[in-house]
Formats: sequence, C-alpha cells, structure tokens
Amino acid sequence: MNEQILDSFTKDALESARASNTYRTLRHIVSPEASHVKIACNGSGHAPTDTLLLASNSYLDLSNIDELKRSMADAVLQWGTGSGGARLTTGNKTPHDELEECIAQFKGEEAAITFNTGYMANVGTISALCGKNDFVFSDELNHASIIDGIRLSRASCKVYRHNDIADLERAIAEAKIEVRSRGQDAKQDTKQDAEQDARPFRGLIVTDAVFSMDGDLANLPELLRVAREQDVLLMIDEAHATGVVGKTGRGLAEHYGCAHADVTVGTLSKAVAAEGGFVAGRQQLIDFLRNKARSFIFTTAMAPAVAAAACNNLRYIGSHPERVRQLQDNVKFFCEALKREGLGVQPSPSAIVPIVVGDEARALEVSATLQERGILIPAIRYPTVARGQARLRASLMATHTQEELQTAATAISQIIKSID
Ligand SMILES: *Cc1c(COP(=O)(O)O)cnc(C)c1O
Repeated sequence: MNEQILDSFTKDALESARASNTYRTLRHIVSPEASHVKIACNGSGHAPTDTLLLASNSYLDLSNIDELKRSMADAVLQWGTGSGGARLTTGNKTPHDELEECIAQFKGEEAAITFNTGYMANVGTISALCGKNDFVFSDELNHASIIDGIRLSRASCKVYRHNDIADLERAIAEAKIEVRSRGQDAKQDTKQDAEQDARPFRGLIVTDAVFSMDGDLANLPELLRVAREQDVLLMIDEAHATGVVGKTGRGLAEHYGCAHADVTVGTLSKAVAAEGGFVAGRQQLIDFLRNKARSFIFTTAMAPAVAAAACNNLRYIGSHPERVRQLQDNVKFFCEALKREGLGVQPSPSAIVPIVVGDEARALEVSATLQERGILIPAIRYPTVARGQARLRASLMATHTQEELQTAATAISQIIKSID
C-alpha cells in the first residue's frame, strides 16, 4: 500500500483537526445507558468512574426496564438475530409491519414507514420528494441529516433564519420570483429545458421540531399557516420531540394543540430507546416513500427483534404517560434550580437545557471540572454553535432524582463562578 496516497487523502485533515482542537475520539462507557454510567479512564489503569449522565438521548430511560428487555429477548428467540433481506425482498417480517402500525397509531396518522435510522429517514424522504427544480426552505439550525437530504435531492436550498417566520416568507417569495424568471428565460433554451423549467413552483419547508443544541421548539402553528398560504409542503423532524414534547409525548401537534405537518419524521433511537427512523403521514405519502426512498429500498431491513423492541417501547410510552410527565417535571425542576443558582437559564420546552457559558475554552474547562466531580455534561463549541456561544448542553432523563439535579445545578454554578 502506498502510504503517501493515503496521506494525501487523510493527513492534512487529521492534523488540522488536532490543531483546531476538533479531533474526535470515543468515550468508553462500560455500563448500559442509564442515569448513571461507568466511564473507563483512557489508559490510566484506574477503575471506571461512576458518572451522573446529563448527556443522554435516552430521555425516558427505557433501556433498562426488565419487562422491555425481556420482550426484546423473546423477539430474538422468535425471530433470530437478523432480517436476511431488504424490506422489499425477504426482510419484511411481522414485527416490521406491527411497528409501522404502532407508529401510525402513536402519532395519530393514517400510516407510517420505518427506516433503519432517523438519518436515513431524512435523507431518503427529502431526496425522494424533491428534485432539481424544487425548492427546500430549511431552518439554519437544522440537523445534518436534513442538510444531507437536501444536498442529495439537488433541489435549490433556501436557508431561513432560525425560527424566523418572516424570513421564511421572504425566502419563499424570492423562490417564486426565481421560478417566474426561469419561465421567461426558458424561451431561449432547448425544448426539453423549457419543459422542465416551465414546471410549476414546488416547495418544501423542513425544520427540526426540537432544535438539538438549544432545546427550543419550531413554531408549528405559524409554519402550518405559511405552508397553507404559500401552497408548500411542511416537514418536521421530531427526533428529540417523540416521547418528550406534548402532554403524552406525541410531539409538537399535541403540545400546540394544532394540526400535524404534512410529513412527520422521527427516530426510534432516542426516547424510544431502540433503533430506527420513521415517517408518519397520509397513506399516499407512505406508499410514495416505499416506492421512491432509496435509503428505504437499498438496504437490509432492521433486525426483526429491533422492530419488536421499538414497537413494545412505543406501546409502553403510550400506556405510561406518567413517565413523560416525570421527565417534564425534571426539566422544570432543573431549570428552576439553575436559575436559583443565579444562572441565566430559560425554562426549556424539551429535555435539552443549554447553559450558555460564552467563551470556548471556559466551556471546556467547566465541562472537564464537572467530569472530575463525576458529572458528565458535554461542552458544545464552534462550529456546532456560533462563536462566543459555547455552552454546556445538559439533557435530562425521567429517572434523574431531584437530589441529583440539585447537586448538578450547584456544581455547575460553583465551577462557573470559580473560573470567572
Ligand atoms: C438524532 C437525530 C437524527 C438522526 O436520528 P438517528 O436515528 O440517530 O439516525 C435526525 N434528526 C435529528 C433532529 C436528530 O436529532
């Protein structure tokens, strides 16, 4: 193997990542995901440290419930370890069908389709719905999987300012003007180009439901209004909303008491504590995706036991609304505790609580000191968030106790003040 060629593809990127402190490494956790985990100390020879985890996406902490673990184990015994094929060949087993019914019911939609991950759901859905002549209107803080889906679709992308409805309306107006002038320019082009360009305006608004770094919500009622007025489609990604937002964890429509978006994406890997992504909506949308979404078609179906686990866990959420309430109560308590400690924290409408520190190095230092004290809250820095907006990003679980949350709030405040 020619090392120089490998170097030419990789070396500079690695060196510049190291130089800019953005080189990524894995954390080694030697216990299951729960409110406390044991973290191995890299090469130190020390015993793993017991750590209070305020960093998990497993918001409802469903990963360790005996009844749910046993259901998944039973599904392995019944259905084996793998699915053996793509959904459209031999992979589709009873648990896959049941899961899709289960999602449709949970979300109150006509139908649902599952993908192997939420990432694949976004990439497959946007690239199936939109093509070269279409427009996608995308919130500037959308998740990477949405951005990749837009790129793959080759649609024109108009990014609007975060949660700024007036800016979204401006972007749509701009796109409509571009389409009109495209129609006029087409006279000089070949007949084929002219036909393509003469296609009427089609647009898709796409947004995270809960923004992953700020924990704030998309304004679904206003987005629905704009979509209706402007005749565009609306897609929301409820990855961090499913099982978290709304009185019983059904998501944004339940929270606002409004209609659903045309296309609702979600993941089964966060609060649902399994794996997989989904789209829920009208039957015709689901039929379309089953036929056109490449990340659905050209991949092996998830293991049937994973589908069974996702379905059981979702049913568990449906029959245990108190678990969702427990999470929401914890978020309220933690935000109030931080405020009592003198930190400028807003009440969060999700399970994500950002504590903005500002300076990049300072955020890192606070996070490292917290970890020495047995509390894991990651620091999020540029380029994930804007420069000078570095923060601790706490995410809560239904099973954190108030004592644990109070201890964390006190420690955060003490450390931030000691660094000033
Ligand atoms: C996590 C996440 C995804 C990806 O879901 P996975 O199932 O983990 O692939 C998509 N969108 C948003 C907003 C997310 O936070």
